[in-house]
Amino acid sequence: MNVNLDDMLSYNQRFVEKKDYEPYRTNNIPNKRTVIFTCMDTRLVELLPKALNIQNGDVKMVKNAGAILRDPFDSIMKSILVAIYELQAEQVIVIGHHDCGMSHMKTEAFKQGMKHRGISAETLQTIDHAGIDLDREFAGFHSVEESVEESVSVIKNHPLIPDDVGVHGLTIDPETGKIDLVTKGQ
Ligand SMILES: [Zn+2]
Repeated sequence: MNVNLDDMLSYNQRFVEKKDYEPYRTNNIPNKRTVIFTCMDTRLVELLPKALNIQNGDVKMVKNAGAILRDPFDSIMKSILVAIYELQAEQVIVIGHHDCGMSHMKTEAFKQGMKHRGISAETLQTIDHAGIDLDREFAGFHSVEESVEESVSVIKNHPLIPDDVGVHGLTIDPETGKIDLVTKGQ
């Protein structure tokens, strides 16, 4: 069931009228000088900040499916660089989670789903001919710890990351919020 956009907009009108935004007022510099890179999983939307005592204004948070970072110039890496150079972030924390959808990603079924939704074989072929390998682009992972380490390694070894930026890796349990350390930077 998707929420009707009109309902969202009328809720928003009341939110602003009642000044419900007041407890959330802050600025764009992260109080904790931290960038968090995590998964877009629905279970983490409120749980992750609560589990780490993160309030509005405390961190920059970037997300994608699986907290997977493999390409040193994808949009996640660009956001991390902006957070460091423009917004005073001093450390990066990658947080993967157990039971992640990307840990059992089947790219064949994924492509079948596209076909069922009306994406033509020709379109998929054109993308393939353009040199874009969907199996590679949407590859998931087997071990969340290994995946977190890989993402940490792309950030830590990035040529544009200054040496004094700490890069850490954690996992979170999406049921209990329990955090485990994977790798600790400086
Ligand atoms: Zn996930």
